[in-house]
Amino acid sequence: MSDWKKFINVNGNFELPNYIYRTINELMKQSLDMGTLLSDDPHKLRAYKEQTKKLFKNKWNNLAQSLEFFGIIEECSCISSKHDFSNNKDIYCDVCKGARYIISSALSADEMREVSTFVNAAENIEVAEKLQKSLMKVLSDYR
Ligand SMILES: [Zn+2]
Repeated sequence: MSDWKKFINVNGNFELPNYIYRTINELMKQSLDMGTLLSDDPHKLRAYKEQTKKLFKNKWNNLAQSLEFFGIIEECSCISSKHDFSNNKDIYCDVCKGARYIISSALSADEMREVSTFVNAAENIEVAEKLQKSLMKVLSDYR
């Protein structure tokens, strides 16, 4: 799993959106790897991979939207540029590093610490469990 300390930038700010984004991506990669162990059928495998990617991307979008709603993160300027982010694999943004969100500039250091504590707890219990359940469902649908 991601080491959150690596996500403190040169200004001493915690890059929360990037951290969550990377964590979800790591979980996604692990799930994709698991899929290759579960089936030799290339059609099933492709369907599994597509579903898994969609599922994790949706999770990140939902999570980002809720964090944005509470003023914890805000959209990176790259999100409003004219790029179509459904095909954006190669468009790299230096500011958000692909997460498309940055930590809210209104957040204080203390608030940020509270948020990261919460996120860590949620990530360990709830998110992991929910993702696991969703994945099991995806797998059973393709069996
Ligand atoms: Zn960006």
